[in-house]
Amino acid sequence: MIKLYSKECRFYNWEESPEPIILSVTENPHLPRVLAKKYAIVLDNVNDYPEDILSGYAAILSRQSIQDVRLSKFISLDPEFSYIKNGDVIRINAYANEIRVLFRVDSDHNSLLVTERCNSFCLMCSQPPRNVDDSYLIKDACDAIKCMPRSATSLGITGGEPTLLDDGFLEIVQAASSYLPETYLHILTNGRSFSDRANSRALKRIKHPNLMLGIPLYSDLSEQHDFIVQAKNAFEETIKGILNLRRDGVRVELRVVIHKQTYSRLPDLARFIARNLAFVEHVAFMGLELTGFTKANFKALWIDPHDYRNELDQACRILQASRVKTMIYNHQLCLLSEYSREFSVNSISDWKNEYLEKCTPCMRKNECGGFFSTGFSLTKTSDFIKPFMELEKMIPVKEIC
Ligand code: SF4
Repeated sequence: MIKLYSKECRFYNWEESPEPIILSVTENPHLPRVLAKKYAIVLDNVNDYPEDILSGYAAILSRQSIQDVRLSKFISLDPEFSYIKNGDVIRINAYANEIRVLFRVDSDHNSLLVTERCNSFCLMCSQPPRNVDDSYLIKDACDAIKCMPRSATSLGITGGEPTLLDDGFLEIVQAASSYLPETYLHILTNGRSFSDRANSRALKRIKHPNLMLGIPLYSDLSEQHDFIVQAKNAFEETIKGILNLRRDGVRVELRVVIHKQTYSRLPDLARFIARNLAFVEHVAFMGLELTGFTKANFKALWIDPHDYRNELDQACRILQASRVKTMIYNHQLCLLSEYSREFSVNSISDWKNEYLEKCTPCMRKNECGGFFSTGFSLTKTSDFIKPFMELEKMIPVKEIC
């Protein structure tokens, strides 16, 4: 698994830099000085280069540890961070001896967490909210976006609830629009803030060229949705928000996490969407990540995916009949009905995507969504996992846009 955060790196000669800095990474030791000061250089062995060349960089990272370090702003990397490469973006907090990788050029699953605060309290939240002042994350996100390569194909914005940042939220979207205009921007939000039309209009005014909001909807019944997100009037606000976003031309993806509280009404929810929200870009049915609040609410949430395969199959058919694009995220292919396998997408971020020992002989492993490696997702799995031993009836897997 790739490590994204480390306190195991060793810092040398950082006395003058108490503030965290966000930098692009380069492996080019020949950048002009005027450019070099904006980069962190990463090298296998810094002894291969003269000190006066390296001293022009904002930080010097070495994959190999060296004796007798005289270079200023030098970091000997934790071996698990040796993957850091040209085009990545890192945050260096020398005061705390900490490096975070904010963007990996080799990954299609980059996302920035922009706040831990939230106005919902979902039973299965994988990132439990904290009521803290983390407004510094707005500047961090904007700085990180400025450092990312323009060729980045996609970027996620997540929380907490990003829209609680008010103008800070718009600032982040504006930064993405200005510095990464060709990058698909996907924002996870509960959509409630957009029940105020002023907020959907403000987002529209940014004119981001490739923006999508991922909004959760857990039931066609307001009381059931409100119970799952533990927030009164959330259903009404979310639906109003989605309709306002539609009026303002902002694209929306609906997300439905499937668990014991939601599975039985999946066909009803699909009918509700087909009747009232068929304009959405697509509907994503999502498997449960067994981490965060899901651990505490395990008994109320866990159901073997095999046991809801019929409801999921039916929901897919209803949406297809209404030509609503449908996807299934975070699911093991062998637990889906043959019909619904067509909608399965490899959606789990690469750094937390694993497979079981018994998956080894499976002929369709590379099409399968696999398992989360987080929490106890790998210890509590379905009793019905069964490798495909032949390749017949192969169905092409869809890619996430
Ligand atoms: S056996 Fe494993 S790899 Fe194959 S479909 Fe099932 S979960 Fe996926």
